[in-house]
Amino acid sequence: MFAPLPDKPDHPALELEILARWDEERTFEQLRERNRGNAHWSFVDGPVTANRSSLGVHTAWGRTLKDVFQRYKGLRGFDQRYQNGFDCQGLWIEVGVERSLGLNSKREIEAYGLEEFARRCREVVVNSSEALTRGSIRLGQWMDWGKDYFTFSDTNIEYIWKFLAILNERGWLFMGHRSTEWCPRCGTSLSQHELSQSGVYQDRADPSLYVRLPLIEHPGESLVVWTTTPWTLPANVAAAVHPEEEYGRRENGEWVAVKLFPDDVFAQKLQGSELVGRRYRGPFDDLAPGASVEHRVIPWEDVTMDQGTGIVHIAPGCGGEDFELSRVHGLEVLTPVDESGRFYDDYGWLHGLSTSEAADQITGALGERGILLEAGLYTHAYPHCWRCDTPLIFRLSDDWFIAVGDLRAKLLEENAKVTWVPEYMGKRMDDWLRNMGDWNISRRRYYGLPLPFYPCACGHLNVIGSKAELAERAIEGMEQLEELRRPWIDRVPIRCEQCGESVTRIAEVGDVWLDAGIVPFATLGWQSPDYVEEGYATGAADGLTRADLPDHSYWEKWFPADWVSEMREQIRLWFYSQFFMSVALVGRSPYRRVLAYEKMLDEHGREMHASWGNTIPAEEAFAQMGADVMRWQYCAQPPDRNLLFGFGPAHEIKRKLLTFWNSVKFLVDYGNIEGFQPSWERLEPDVELRPLDRWLVERTKQLVAEATDGYEATLTTDVVRAFEAFVDDVSNWYIRRSRRRFYSFDEPAFRTLWFALVQSLRVVAPVMPFLTDHLWRNLVQDGPQSVHLAGWPDADEPDRALLDEIAAVRGVVELGRQARSASQLKLRQPLRRLVVAGAPLARSHAEEIADELRVKEVEFGDVAASELRVKPNLPVLGPKLGSALRDVREQLQRGAFEELDGGHFRVGDHVLEPSEVLVERVGIEGWAVAGQNGVTVALDTALDDELLLEARLLDRVHEVNVLRKESGLEVTDRINLWVPDEDVLARYRARLADETLAVSVELGELRIEKA
Ligand SMILES: [Zn+2]
Ligand SMILES: [Zn+2]
Repeated sequence: MFAPLPDKPDHPALELEILARWDEERTFEQLRERNRGNAHWSFVDGPVTANRSSLGVHTAWGRTLKDVFQRYKGLRGFDQRYQNGFDCQGLWIEVGVERSLGLNSKREIEAYGLEEFARRCREVVVNSSEALTRGSIRLGQWMDWGKDYFTFSDTNIEYIWKFLAILNERGWLFMGHRSTEWCPRCGTSLSQHELSQSGVYQDRADPSLYVRLPLIEHPGESLVVWTTTPWTLPANVAAAVHPEEEYGRRENGEWVAVKLFPDDVFAQKLQGSELVGRRYRGPFDDLAPGASVEHRVIPWEDVTMDQGTGIVHIAPGCGGEDFELSRVHGLEVLTPVDESGRFYDDYGWLHGLSTSEAADQITGALGERGILLEAGLYTHAYPHCWRCDTPLIFRLSDDWFIAVGDLRAKLLEENAKVTWVPEYMGKRMDDWLRNMGDWNISRRRYYGLPLPFYPCACGHLNVIGSKAELAERAIEGMEQLEELRRPWIDRVPIRCEQCGESVTRIAEVGDVWLDAGIVPFATLGWQSPDYVEEGYATGAADGLTRADLPDHSYWEKWFPADWVSEMREQIRLWFYSQFFMSVALVGRSPYRRVLAYEKMLDEHGREMHASWGNTIPAEEAFAQMGADVMRWQYCAQPPDRNLLFGFGPAHEIKRKLLTFWNSVKFLVDYGNIEGFQPSWERLEPDVELRPLDRWLVERTKQLVAEATDGYEATLTTDVVRAFEAFVDDVSNWYIRRSRRRFYSFDEPAFRTLWFALVQSLRVVAPVMPFLTDHLWRNLVQDGPQSVHLAGWPDADEPDRALLDEIAAVRGVVELGRQARSASQLKLRQPLRRLVVAGAPLARSHAEEIADELRVKEVEFGDVAASELRVKPNLPVLGPKLGSALRDVREQLQRGAFEELDGGHFRVGDHVLEPSEVLVERVGIEGWAVAGQNGVTVALDTALDDELLLEARLLDRVHEVNVLRKESGLEVTDRINLWVPDEDVLARYRARLADETLAVSVELGELRIEKA
C-alpha cells in the first residue's frame, strides 16, 4: 500500500519531517561513506561573510546551486569535499560592531579598546556562523557542518603572509602615494574591486556650481569652471583646457569653450593652447594653502566637450586624474581633509567641517566674492562606500600595493583555459584582467589580516612569512600574542634583517579579498608537511571548527577545483583574488569551471533593501513557500538574467508542482484501489506494453538524458525546463489518454506510470531534495531508503523517432485546440472534420487526434481554406537583420513572401526561421485555422443535428460527474441515473451509462443515487 496523499503538499511540514529522517538515518553520511575512495570531483566553497543574524534569500540562491551540483555528483558516485567557509574579517564585521556599540569614529574605537573590540567582532562571527549554518541546513544544503573554514584562523593568515613574502621576494610589493577613493566614515581607502561591487554607484544630487576665476594679467577677464564638488575648490591649483579646442571670450570677459556655448556671442576666440600658462586668482587664496600656490592654465587632452564649460578645475589632492596631472605638470598638491573627511586646521573658517557641511559655506563665500555665476543641483551616479553607504571622496593616501603588471599576461593566458558559464562571464574576467590596476591591499582598520610589513628606517622592507619566523625575529611580546591580530600583533617588534634595529609593524590591515583568495591553499594544505587533524582551527578559529589542516598530497589531489560558483560581482572579487593568488603562487588557475549568475531583485524588478521593506528573510520564505519551492525558483533562473524573487513566482511554482503531485496522487489513489505493488528490482516495465506506454518509457529516458546534459553543463535551468515539459507530457498526455486503464488493474499502465514517476523523482532530487525524498519513500518501498542513495539512472539513448512522432501529435492537438478556441466553440461540441497539413509524423495517430479534439474525422492534406499573415518577430529578427528589417517587414506586410518547408519563409534574399516570424492564419467562412512551425490545421466548424445531440450527451455526462463529486462518491462507485432528455437516451443510453458508471439510466428529472 502507498500512503494516501492529501490534495496538495504541505511543503514546510514535509521538509521538517525529511530533515529529521536524514538526521536519524545519517543519509548524508551514508552517501559519503559509499562514495569515499571513488573518482573525485572537487568543489571549493566561496566563503559567506559571517556578519548577519540570519540566512538571506540572496545567499540561499548561491547555496542552493552549490548544493544541487554536489548532490548530483554525489548521486553519480563522486568522492567530494563538502567544506563550508565563513569570511570573518574586514569592514563588514567591523561596521556592524561599531554600530552595535554606538561608536562613530576610529578615535572612539581606539578609546573603546582594540582588544575588547576584537572580541566583539569575533562574537559577531560566532553568532552569525551559527545562524547561517541553521539556515543552510533548513535549506537542505549538505555540508560538513562543524568542519568549516574560518578566514580569521591563524592558519589562513599565515598562508597570506607566506604569499606576501613570496611576492616581496619578487619585488611586487610597493607603497604608493596616490589620490584614491576614500570613505570618510570608515577612514580608509577602497580598492578598485571594492568599487566594482553592485550598489556602489547610486544616483545623488550634488551642487552644480559655475565659478569665475579672474585672470591676473588680463584685468576684467576670467575663466569659467564648473564643479559638483565645492569642497575641492579650496584645493584648486590649476585650470585645464583642451589645447586643440576653441575658446571664446564673452563681452563680459568670461572664457568658455565655444563648442559648449554655440549660441553665445564672443568678442575674441583663441585655441586652448594659447590660453595655457595664463595665471589666475584661486577661489580661496585668502586661506593659507591656496595663497601659497601659483594658479595657472594647463593643457589636458582629456577635457571633454559634453558638459561643463570646457575648462576644468584641477585639485590634485582630491581626484585621481588630477593627481596624475600634478605629476606631469609639477603642480602643488593640497590635501584639504583628514582621514575622517574633515578640513584641516590651516583651512581657517572651514576647519573641522565635513565635505558636505563645507559645501554650503563655500557656495555662500563664492557668492559674497561675486565669483559665483550660477548654482544649481546636478544628479549623477556617484560612488558610495559599499559597506556604510557614505558618499566617497578622493583623498591622498599612502597605501600598499601589489604590482600586477608582471603577471598580467599569464593571468590572461590562464583565464582562457577556464570554462565560464555563461560564456560572457569569462569575457568580463578577461576585460578586468586587461584593465585592472595595481592591487591596493592595505586598509586603515582594525579587525583584519595584519599585514606583515615592517619597513625599517634603513630602507629595508621586512616581510614576515610565518608565525615561526615572527617568533624567531621577535624582540618581545610573543607571550601575549593570543591571535595574529591587532592589537596583540602590534606589540611584537622584530629585528631588521638588514641593520638589526628594532622595527614595528605598519598599522594597516589587509584587504578582505586576500582572506578569501588564499582559501584554495590554506584549506587544502598546500606545502603543509603533515596532515594535522583539526589543525586549521587556530587563532580566532580555535574552538569554532574541527577543520583539518591537510598535507601537500591532499592539496595535489583536490587542487584545482573542478567547479566554483558565485554571483557575477565576484568576478572582480573572489573569483579574481583567488585566481590572482593562485597564478602568482603556482602558475595556474585555481578552478576549471565557473558558474556565475546575475543579481537578485524583488519580484517587481526592484533592488531589495531593508529600508524599502521588500527584503524577504529566508526564515519567512521557508515557512511560507518551503525550501523546495525556493530552490526551484533559484534553479529555474537562467544565470544570465536577474532573478526576480518573491512570493508571486513561488505561487506559480507551487501550481506547477501541483500538476506533478497530482500525477503521483493519481497513481497512489488507483494503485491502492487496485492493489498495485511495484518492485524496485523490476524498475523498468518488463510486461507487454501498449504504444502509449512504450512512448512514456522512451519519454522518461529522454528526461534522464536531458537532465544529465543540464547538470553536466552546470545549467539548472535546463534541468527544470526538461522536468516541466516531462510533467506536462505525463499529466496532459499519458494520464489523460490512459485514465480509463487505471480504473481497473491494467498492469502495463501502472508499471509504466510508476517507472516514469520514480525516474523523474531521481533526476530532480538535487533540485528539490525534500519533496522528491518524501514521494520516493512512498513510491519505492522496497528500494534504497532515500532517493539520495538511489544513484543516478542510466541514461539510455531514447527512441527519438517515437518521441518525434508523439511530439508531432501533441503539436497538432495543441493547434487544434487553438483553432477551436478561436472559433469559440465549446470543447464538448463534437465537430465533423479536421484537416492537417505539414505534420507527416502525426499521420498514423489520426484516431488519437480525432479523439482528443472531438472530431469525427482527421484528414492529412492541404489546407487551402486560409489566408496567411506573417509578421516579423521583432526581438529576434531585429538584432539579426539590423537596417534590413524595415524592408523585410514591408514585404511581409504586402504578402511578398514565399512559404517554405518546416515553417521557413523566403523574403527577397532572406530565409526566415520559424522562430523569427509570427504567423497568423485566418480561416475562411466555416473553418477555424491555426498554424505554427510549418504545421497548419483547419477545423470544419459546421454543425448539424447529429453533432448537436452528441454535444448534449457530453454536457449530461459532465453534469453527472459534477453531481457524483458533490455527493462525495468514490470514483469507482456505481450509480442509478435519471436524465430528462428522451432523444439523448434513445440514441446514447449505453454510452451515458458507461461514462458515468451507471448501472441503470431512466427518463426523469436529472438525479443520481448510489447503486
Ligand atoms: Zn564606509
Ligand atoms: Zn634596517
